[in-house]
Amino acid sequence: MNHQMQLMHAVRAKTSFDPRQLTYVIYGGEDEVKRRETILERVELAAGMDNNKLPQVYVGQDRTAQYHDGLRTGKIMLEENIKHRHQFFTIMSVTHSLINTSPFGVHDAMFIPTIQLQGNLDQQAHWLPLARSGAILGAYCQTEIGHGTFLRGLETTARFDAEADKFIIHSPTPSSTKYWPGGLGHSASHAIVMARLVIHEKDHGVHAFLVQLRSLEDWKPMPGIELGDIGLLLGMNGANNGYARFDHVRIPRQNMMMGQAKVARNGDYTPPSKEHAKSSYSTMIYARALVAYAAAFQLAKACTIAIRYSTVREQGNLSFDAANIVEKAIITFKSQHYRLLLHLSRAYAIHFASRSSLRMCEDLVWNKDSKSQSMLAYLHITTAGLKAYGTQVAADGAEDARRCCGGHGYSLLSGLPNIVTELSSNATLEGENYVMYQQTARYLVKQAKLIREGDKENVDENVAYLQLGYEHLVTGKDKGCPYSADKFLDCKKLLDVFRHRAVRGIFDCEEALRTSRKNGRTGEEAWNEHMIQLIMAARYHLEYYILEAFIHHASEIHDQKVRRVIEYVCRLYALTTIESPLSMGSSGFIEDGYVSSDQLRAIGHHVNITLEALLPEAIGLTDAWNFSDASLQSALGRWDGNVYETLLEWTRQLPINRRSRMTGGVEVEGYQKYIKPIIAARSKL
Ligand SMILES: Cc1cc2nc3c(=O)[nH]c(=O)nc-3n(C[C@H](O)[C@H](O)[C@H](O)COP(=O)(O)OP(=O)(O)OC[C@H]3O[C@@H](n4cnc5c(N)ncnc54)[C@H](O)[C@@H]3O)c2cc1C
Repeated sequence: MNHQMQLMHAVRAKTSFDPRQLTYVIYGGEDEVKRRETILERVELAAGMDNNKLPQVYVGQDRTAQYHDGLRTGKIMLEENIKHRHQFFTIMSVTHSLINTSPFGVHDAMFIPTIQLQGNLDQQAHWLPLARSGAILGAYCQTEIGHGTFLRGLETTARFDAEADKFIIHSPTPSSTKYWPGGLGHSASHAIVMARLVIHEKDHGVHAFLVQLRSLEDWKPMPGIELGDIGLLLGMNGANNGYARFDHVRIPRQNMMMGQAKVARNGDYTPPSKEHAKSSYSTMIYARALVAYAAAFQLAKACTIAIRYSTVREQGNLSFDAANIVEKAIITFKSQHYRLLLHLSRAYAIHFASRSSLRMCEDLVWNKDSKSQSMLAYLHITTAGLKAYGTQVAADGAEDARRCCGGHGYSLLSGLPNIVTELSSNATLEGENYVMYQQTARYLVKQAKLIREGDKENVDENVAYLQLGYEHLVTGKDKGCPYSADKFLDCKKLLDVFRHRAVRGIFDCEEALRTSRKNGRTGEEAWNEHMIQLIMAARYHLEYYILEAFIHHASEIHDQKVRRVIEYVCRLYALTTIESPLSMGSSGFIEDGYVSSDQLRAIGHHVNITLEALLPEAIGLTDAWNFSDASLQSALGRWDGNVYETLLEWTRQLPINRRSRMTGGVEVEGYQKYIKPIIAARSKL
C-alpha cells in the first residue's frame, strides 16, 4: 500500500456507519443492489472497462471513433436489456450518465414510452414488440432548427391525403429541419416525428407520428428523407445527435399515434378528451423525471471523485511557520470541506426528491384512469421544476467539484470534465430550465389566486400548504421566525422556514402580477416584467418540496447509524440552502425580515458543527453510491486512493505518448513539420 492508499484506508475505517446499509437505502434494498452489481459487472466486462488500462474514452478519438465508441457500449447495454429482460439501462448508462449519452438511449427513454403512452392498443401491439426486441431502433424528433421550447412553433407538417389514406410528412423550410435528436444521425431506423396535423387545410396542431427513416435491409434513408449527424458537441459525442429533412414522405394513416387524438378513414378528427389532453405531454413528464433522477447520480459521481481525491491529496497546511510543515489532506481545509459536502448533500437531496416524483410518475403516467389524469397537472409542474432545479444544481456542483481538484481536475483523465459537459446539456434537453421553472411558477400563482379569491374547492390538495400559509400571512401570524438558535438543528423546524419563504414568494408574485395588470399591462407584459421573481418563487417551492421529501425518506431508514448520518446530511442541505453564498435564493429567507440576522448567525454556526460531524463520514457517504472504479473512469476517484500511480500510468498509455515512445520519444510528424524548421531557421542566424 502506498501513502495515498494508506490515507484512504485510514479515513474509510473511521466511518461511523456501514455504507453498504446506505447503499441499500439509495437503491431500494439489498436484492436490488445485488441485481445491480451483477448487471453492471457483466456489462463492464463486455465493454472491456478495466480500470488498470486507460479508458477508451480518453484515447483521443475523432468524431467517427467517438460515435463508434458510443455504438459499441450502447449496443452492449441495449442487448443486455433485451437478453436479460430488464430495463436497467433505460435511465442511466453503465457509467451512470443519462442514457441519452448512448445513440440508442432515446430509443428506451422516449421512443418506446411515446408508443406506450400515446399509441392505441393496436399500435402498441404492433410496434412495441418490434421496438423492445431491437428489431427497430427509434429516435424522438421534436426539436427543429427554428424551434425547440415553443412547440406550437414547429413547422413540420403531416398533411392528410384522404384518397390514399396516408399522411404526407414534409419539412417546408430550412428552419423546419429536425435538429438535435439523439441517435437520429445514423443510428435509428424509425422515429417519433412531432408534426402539425393538417386535414383539408385545417391545422390541428402538433401530433406524434411514427416514421420509418431507414431501410431495414441496407440501412439507407427511405425515399425523400435526408439524414445526418450534427457534428461535435460540448459533450455526449457518442450519442449521434442528428438532423432530418422530409420531402413529402408518405406514411400510413395508422402511423399517427392515436391513443388520444384520432383521425378516421374519412378524415374526421377527434381531439383528445379533456381529461386526456395532458397525456400528450406524458412522454415529456416521464423523461423529465428521469433527467432529474439521473442528475443526482451524476453529481454524486463528481463528488465521489473529488472527495476521494481530496482525502489523499496533501498540500501544505495552514501553519504559516515554514519550519514546521506537516502536510494536510486538502479536504480538511474548510473551503474544500464546505463546498464538497454541500454538493454531496444536494446530490442526496435531489436523489430522494426525484425518487418521490419518479414513483408518482410510475403510478400516474402509466395508469391512465381519469383520476390519475387530473393529477397529471401537478406531476407535470413538479417534474418540470425538479428537472430544472436538479440539473442546474448538479451542473454547478459538478463544475465546483472539478475545480476542487485543482489542475488535475482540468484533465479529462480525472473523469470530471465529461461529467460537467454531460450535465451542462441537461439544462437544455427535455425542456430548457428557465422555461421549466416558469411552468412551475405559472401553476403556483394560479393556485395562489384561487386561494386569495376564497375558491378553496378548486385548490390542488398537493399544494395545501399555500392555503394555511396564506392565512398566516393575512393574519400576520407569520411575521418573524419564532425559533431560538438551537431549534435550527431540527429539520422539521427548518422546513417551516422553507415553507414561509415559498408561501411569501408565491403570493408576492401573484400580487405583483395583479398590480401590473391594474396598471394597464397585458398578462404577457406583466409576466415578463416579473419573470425573475417568478422563477425564484418556483425555486422556493421546489426547495420546500425537496426538503420535505428528504426528511420523509430519512425518517424511513431503519438502520439507526445510517439514519443519524443522513439526518445530518439533510440538515446540512437545509442550513446551507438558507445561508450559503453558493445558494441562489438565500436572500429570500431574509428579505421580509422573517429570519433575523441573529438567527442567520446561529445557522452559520450550525453549518460548521454539522460539517465537523460529517467530515469523518464523507468517504462512507460517497462509497454508499456504489460506483465501481470502472464506471467512474477517473484516475483521481479510485476507491483505494491510489491516484498518483494511476494518473501516471494512464498518462503513459495515452496514444500520443505510446507512439512517440516507439520513435525514440519523438512525436515525429509534429517535429518534422513545425519544430525542426523553427530550430533550423534560428540555427542559421
Ligand atoms: C444534448 C442534447 C440532446 C437533445 N436531444 C433531443 C432529442 O432527442 N429530441 C429532440 O427533439 N430534441 C433534442 N434536443 C433539443 C432540446 O430539446 C432543445 O434544445 C430544448 O428543448 C431547448 O430548446 P431550444 O434549443 O429551442 O432553446 P430556446 O428555446 O431557443 O432557448 C434559448 C434561450 O431562450 C430562453 N427562452 C426560450 N423561451 C423562453 C420563454 N418562454 N421564457 C423565457 N426564456 C425563454 C431559454 O431560457 C434559453 O435561455 C437535445 C438537445 C441537446 C443539447
